[in-house]
Amino acid sequence: MTDDGNTRPRATCRVCGDGLEQFLDLGEQPISQAFVEPGADAEEFFFPLVVGVCTGCAMVQLLHDVPRDRMFHHDYPFYSSSSQAMQEYFAGVAREFLDTDLTGDRPFLVEIGCNDGVLLRTIKDAGVRHLGFEPSGGVADVARARGIRVRGDFFEERTAKEVCAAEGTADVIYSANTLCHIPYLDSVFRGVDALLAPDGVFVFEDPYLGDVVAQTSFDQIYDEHFYLWSAESVQATARRFGFELVDVRRLPVHGGEVRFTLARAGRRTPTPAVAALVAEERQRRLSSIDTLRGFAANVARVRDDLVRTLTDLRERGRRVVGYGATAKSATVLNLCGIGPDLVEFICDTTPDKHGKLTPGQHIPIRPAEAFADPYPDYALLFAWNHAAEIMAKERAFTASGGRWLRYVPDVHVV
Ligand SMILES: [Zn+2]
Repeated sequence: MTDDGNTRPRATCRVCGDGLEQFLDLGEQPISQAFVEPGADAEEFFFPLVVGVCTGCAMVQLLHDVPRDRMFHHDYPFYSSSSQAMQEYFAGVAREFLDTDLTGDRPFLVEIGCNDGVLLRTIKDAGVRHLGFEPSGGVADVARARGIRVRGDFFEERTAKEVCAAEGTADVIYSANTLCHIPYLDSVFRGVDALLAPDGVFVFEDPYLGDVVAQTSFDQIYDEHFYLWSAESVQATARRFGFELVDVRRLPVHGGEVRFTLARAGRRTPTPAVAALVAEERQRRLSSIDTLRGFAANVARVRDDLVRTLTDLRERGRRVVGYGATAKSATVLNLCGIGPDLVEFICDTTPDKHGKLTPGQHIPIRPAEAFADPYPDYALLFAWNHAAEIMAKERAFTASGGRWLRYVPDVHVV
């Protein structure tokens, strides 16, 4: 920890105030998307990435939070539209809203964390009222250039009330891969309460604790992922703020997510999927400290296997290159202590990252074209959630004898 005095872990839940039990320590970690200029002498910010579960509401959460302005600022380098598969996915989500909850008189959709407008472009093209909240200026500018209405703020009680006063209530409040970033969930829920129409829906999708535990995908845990939701914890949180969990849908995107749909209590009948997922979680004892400690033991095993495999490849003179300088990769690299001696460079399609170094371990990042110039012996797939898209695109790599090295759900070569 270099500043902010945030050295002691939280003892009580951010949502309900009950006690927290720690089960996983991923070590000192940098800001996952704070890529470093070569030769920069500014000291990097590190924080302890430690995870616990609430004994009251079962919410899995980080025990240290990072000041939000350190994560989401003008140079935030993640662009949702950089993946073709994600563009198609969000166009589909938008069309579904247009066909269901946005069919009334002058419907209005608000998105929390609209990024570069990957979802809102479809809403805008349909001529439907919309507003995206996006505090990261660079990605927000891309959305604005597409004609999308963006407010450059964090979504919280105050800003939500201002929108409601100026534009009226929202029929849909939606958030993808953002809500779990926000420690101050109480203010977000009070904002939703202020802004949502009486029969509106609050829909969010984020990585699902059940998938993280089942796949040992510990790299889903980093500074931005403050919470890991389960149906049980979301249901408890919804009740606490006067809402009800009325639908859940498992999603194959981003390595396993759930789309949670909340309505005001008593306004909609929950679908059978809600009770089914809650029952499945109870049967798995997903939120029990024993299950979560078992997960932590699996994380330690994957860490040791990965380091051993990479060390062995280096000793055999094999070239290993990383694929995708993702936020997730920061957790893996810094937990395992993997630097440029084990992974020569990481290729990535985002121009903002090229020529920079990964946070903490300082592995160089190069453009996608560097991958084939010449192909390495092994490619360590950090962007494993886009595996199908990437492996289809890089058929020439495997055709030339290259192999993919993966670490989810365990270390294996493909
Ligand atoms: Zn709690």
